[in-house]
Amino acid sequence: MSQSLLYHAFGVREGYEYLKTGYVEGRVEFHLGVKEEALVCPKCGTGPAMRRGKRWRRIRTVPIGLKPVVLVAEVPRCQCRQCGHGFEVAPLLPRATRTTRTGSPTTPAS
Ligand SMILES: [Zn+2]
Repeated sequence: MSQSLLYHAFGVREGYEYLKTGYVEGRVEFHLGVKEEALVCPKCGTGPAMRRGKRWRRIRTVPIGLKPVVLVAEVPRCQCRQCGHGFEVAPLLPRATRTTRTGSPTTPAS
């Protein structure tokens, strides 16, 4: 799986980098990390901030054939080196219903 395929097929945009693919119970799960340069303090604009932990968001996206596809995206918890502000970074990810204009399957897997 290439990063550019993730960009073009699943609408994954700047701010993320591809980590790995998992195959779980018939699902395909693409794991995405947030790039260091996206860790910018929303308060004072300084970056990159220090990482203080993370959680993971799971987003169902368009299926590959009959296999459901889930984006597993990192949400880093950060603290600004400059002003000490604590924040989470969650670059925008597409919803399945918004990525279906290009002739790919339009029915989200259920
Ligand atoms: Zn700051």
